[in-house]
Amino acid sequence: MTNNAPPAQQKWARRLAERQAQGLARKRRIVTGPQQTRMVVDDRQVISFCGNDYLALANHPKVKSAMTTAAAEYGAGAGAAHLVSGHTRAHHLLEEELADFTGRERALLFSTGYMANVGVLQALADRGDVIYQDKLNHASLLDGGLLSRAKMKRYRHGDPADLRRRLDTEQAAHGLVATDGVFSMEGDIAPLREIAAAAAAKGYTAMVDDAHGFGVLGDQGRGTVAAAGLGERQIPVYMATLGKAAGTFGAFVAGSKELIETLIHFARGYIYTTATPPAVAAAARAALKIIRQDDARRAKLHDNIRHFRQCATELALAIGGGDTAIQPIKVADNQTAVAMQEAMLQAGYYLFAARPPTVPAPCLRITLSSAHEHDEIEAMLTALTKALPHLTAGMPGATTADADVHV
Ligand code: PMP
Repeated sequence: MTNNAPPAQQKWARRLAERQAQGLARKRRIVTGPQQTRMVVDDRQVISFCGNDYLALANHPKVKSAMTTAAAEYGAGAGAAHLVSGHTRAHHLLEEELADFTGRERALLFSTGYMANVGVLQALADRGDVIYQDKLNHASLLDGGLLSRAKMKRYRHGDPADLRRRLDTEQAAHGLVATDGVFSMEGDIAPLREIAAAAAAKGYTAMVDDAHGFGVLGDQGRGTVAAAGLGERQIPVYMATLGKAAGTFGAFVAGSKELIETLIHFARGYIYTTATPPAVAAAARAALKIIRQDDARRAKLHDNIRHFRQCATELALAIGGGDTAIQPIKVADNQTAVAMQEAMLQAGYYLFAARPPTVPAPCLRITLSSAHEHDEIEAMLTALTKALPHLTAGMPGATTADADVHV
């Protein structure tokens, strides 16, 4: 950039240089070939421990074949929003199947999870209302809260007692309490029973974003709400994504007829955007069928999670999280996170260095898939302990420092 570049460009360059100096530069790596545990990243063959394809469905023959068959039938794109001419039979059947799977009256597809969260909060909360959110909720829930005209308040991570204390003195007549089911970076499961009880005691509506629980936890992979023995009465708004365990793309919200109709009428992120390609919906239907029927696949994932946690504990690595596919390991600082990611890539393993503002404190976000083998997990952990001596004790995500802070 030259000195006489336009002022805005100079400002952008300054901000980027700041990020770089803090070890916070972001970089995209180029993947060739399909999404799977053994994949090619920047022309290097690696074993990936960073995707969200927990059940190895992104490259499953039945899912791919459903997509290509539907592409032949429907073409490449939906051509319009759901409320215009984009709502195909493939979308509609998927919605019916998701409603049935989640045990709710209706389900509504959104083009992405980000848009679902923004759409729900903007549609359900208005001026004078209040939205309580876990401090480590996903950025899309936080952004949705900001976009709504409601007052946004955050409670301590995974702490229903803190939520209850705050609700005790809350004046707003209408409110929502929103939480991730499985926290996307920390990998821990929200205490949903206590959160639901606190919301109910105040007459507020509870919402769960189950992006990382859907397909993975609970009977048949029905997610964190079902696993906690809860249903629509306690958690009226259930949202999950289809781009993670379901291996495809998009998201949905499930709940009462009134909830879904309200979203159809008021959620701007639903109304004003093109429907996902019908072939994607067809692929998601095939993935849902596998999620429902293939318990062995889910059992293999959980066996891998147990194996990872046991090996990491034996190696004295400070693991946080819980029995989920997300297993972060805290590192000392941003630069170390990046250096470790790089060293692990050289060793043939792709891990993700999560840094602020995505997380409060840097960590290596390790994720597991049903397609990993025990020996791959062991070899990756051995390489990790050799890679750098900079691992620190303690749990990731439990700090009070703020990530994407929007109070
Ligand atoms: N919620 C959570 C908890 C997530 O982790 C993500 C994706 N990272 C989203 C929502 C957004 O979903 P999508 O990628 O479909 O936009």
